[in-house]
Amino acid sequence: MTGNRLVLVINSGSSSLKYRLLDPDSGEVRASGQVERIGEPSSEVPDHDAALRRAFDTLASDGIDLHACGLSAVGHRVVHGGMTFYRPTILDDAVIAQLEELSELAPLHNPPAIRGIEVARRLLPGVPHVAVFDTAFFHELPAAAATYAIDRELAQTWGIRRYGFHGTSHHFVSGRAAEFLGRPVGELNQIVLHLGNGASASAIARGRPVDTSMGLTPLEGLVMGTRSGDIDPGVFGYLARAAHMSVPDIESMLNHRSGLLGLAGERDFRRLAEMIESGDGAARLAYDVFIHRLRKYIGAYLAVLGHTDAVSFTAGIGENDAAVRRDALAGMGELGLVIDDRRNSAAGDGPRRVSTDDSPIAVLVVPTDEELAIAHDCVRALSR
Ligand code: ADP
Repeated sequence: MTGNRLVLVINSGSSSLKYRLLDPDSGEVRASGQVERIGEPSSEVPDHDAALRRAFDTLASDGIDLHACGLSAVGHRVVHGGMTFYRPTILDDAVIAQLEELSELAPLHNPPAIRGIEVARRLLPGVPHVAVFDTAFFHELPAAAATYAIDRELAQTWGIRRYGFHGTSHHFVSGRAAEFLGRPVGELNQIVLHLGNGASASAIARGRPVDTSMGLTPLEGLVMGTRSGDIDPGVFGYLARAAHMSVPDIESMLNHRSGLLGLAGERDFRRLAEMIESGDGAARLAYDVFIHRLRKYIGAYLAVLGHTDAVSFTAGIGENDAAVRRDALAGMGELGLVIDDRRNSAAGDGPRRVSTDDSPIAVLVVPTDEELAIAHDCVRALSR
């Protein structure tokens, strides 16, 4: 072990906690794991405190003592930075108090992250803890893309604008795509499609984001595992009046019981594919709605960018599902996107091209690595 250089990255969700201990310089992963089903009735892990202790116990049984392994920082993924936080931020009591205030904006996501931060600071008091925000990369969205066309004063009072999420991933993937193409990121116009349980698209012009599909919350945009994505806001009022649903009921339905799960009873894309194979009509429709929405965003972002150099697919579905990539871009030859079927269906690990050599726009698969990007951000924050 040479000096203090490892970073522990912690990603606390509402019912799971993922961690990775890594060397930010080499990217080498020393240990990683996750604790699931936090707080669920039959679970042995009642809360985030217990989850983090369990993670540390697992590390200890693998021979890793976090107090003596050369830990230089703990990086925490925080979903919503609001208007306040758009740079990696060293956590102290005052910052945590400000994060608590933002919980109203992201009630599903920020509170578990704050719990994770509090517990981790208590268990590892000797190292700096850094918050890295999912919204940060999109802080510079142009006003025309960030602004909702609603009452201006109301929007200003309540901070209602499009913040965008998955920023760490969109930033990382656009950088890796540029490296792969051997061009400076500042010279390229790119579309990044992050398709995992949560899904989002972004348009990036010469290294800066110019549009993204998620908005005030991660509910807007593409069809996701359990979230609706774009929906007529009129549905909200209609359900309240006609079905007598409360605000929490409607929000819960849109966040937890919509998307692929709502349409097909299944949120996992691999199992959805199996259901389609076996002739399940609801699964087929869910897939078709997912693809249709994705194609609309690709078309929109080609128009927003005017000229596009690369379209990159990333995250669980984007990296692994060749059919999704094929169907998302089918018939877009005249728009400059031509998939090479053999390349698209070939397996691979790193960044790779799946378009034909003469496709005017390069279509790439670029594996995302949010933990590595968070670790890099930590190092940058500490060297400022
Ligand atoms: P998150 O990090 O948002 O939880 P991931 O990026 O891990 O999600 O993506 C999870 C999704 O990716 C799931 O729907 C899963 O079924 C899908 N996925 C993972 N591997 C494959 C694969 N080989 N083929 C198709 N879909 C896959």
